[in-house]
Amino acid sequence: MPVHDHLAVRERGGVRPQPIFSDHGRVLRNDHVAGEYWHMELEVPNGMADAAPGQFYQMMCESRATSGPMPFLRRPMSIYHFDRQRRRLEFLYKITGLGTTALAQYRCGDLLGLVGPLGVGFRLQELWKHILIVARGVGLATLAPLAEAAHQHGIRSTVILSARSPDLLLSKDRFLKNGAAVSVIVDTDRSSDVENVERLIRGFHAAYPFDAFFTCGSNRLLKLLKTLSRELNVSGQVAIEQQMACGLGMCFCCVRPIERGGRIEQLRVCHDGPVFALEEVNSW
Ligand SMILES: Cc1cc2nc3c(=O)[nH]c(=O)nc-3n(C[C@H](O)[C@H](O)[C@H](O)COP(=O)(O)OP(=O)(O)OC[C@H]3O[C@@H](n4cnc5c(N)ncnc54)[C@H](O)[C@@H]3O)c2cc1C
Repeated sequence: MPVHDHLAVRERGGVRPQPIFSDHGRVLRNDHVAGEYWHMELEVPNGMADAAPGQFYQMMCESRATSGPMPFLRRPMSIYHFDRQRRRLEFLYKITGLGTTALAQYRCGDLLGLVGPLGVGFRLQELWKHILIVARGVGLATLAPLAEAAHQHGIRSTVILSARSPDLLLSKDRFLKNGAAVSVIVDTDRSSDVENVERLIRGFHAAYPFDAFFTCGSNRLLKLLKTLSRELNVSGQVAIEQQMACGLGMCFCCVRPIERGGRIEQLRVCHDGPVFALEEVNSW
């Protein structure tokens, strides 16, 4: 089945070389969005924003503090939005520790070191008409550009956005802008309970069958989609997160067991992923 070439930047089995840049981006904005979530936009050198949904960049998070620990390794961040012509990259990130705390200190005009685009992104197929995107928390940073690409290729997206509470619900407008039908589920009213998500997915599928499932950011949702994928015979892809060091495939720090070709292979999430087929990834 043919795939959109620019969405399959590094197809498994036949790697098409893609330039990986190590350079600086200029911060255009770095705004607090809600809770622990921040949104950064960068202007990058020519070619650096030539990425695909699901790929990521390694970001240098230099602390402004003059004393105390300094983040040494770059931190991986998925592309939230990219614009090749305008040389823009956007990231949606959650403050979790030293590196992301330092990232939130960048101001407009600062230079930030970046390596990328990296990894294997999502793949869309020509004949698909309808996809399901299930995103939880900051996992939707990875899935927002997928909805955009699907829209550009005339594929309809149904999106289930999951959050702890309504105030932490991010990016609904971004998905709506891309023609997606959006359903919101939250922990506070228990609409995000797995039984309800399953009921929603089955209902949507009965009304207009899905050609593929996509997810990121939740083990519970991964488990559910794996089960439904088998039962309804719908293929799927998942972007997984794993702590990384180099992000380039050299250090083997992010190796994870992946079921491929009937056996378990120890694959590097940064190089062979972060996007894998649903059936290849075991929930954790
Ligand atoms: C391919 C990829 C894409 C990612 N995209 C995004 C994104 O778009 N937005 C976003 O907010 N986060 C994203 N992450 C997670 C992000 O890289 C980590 O949250 C970040 O590296 C934490 O750095 P820190 O120094 O702030 O925290 P640390 O002090 O290093 O860690 C704080 C906590 O986060 C955990 N952690 C650290 N690194 C990772 C990691 N790589 N994955 C999962 N947990 C981790 C640690 O175990 C610890 O519990 C992505 C991770 C990967 C692998």
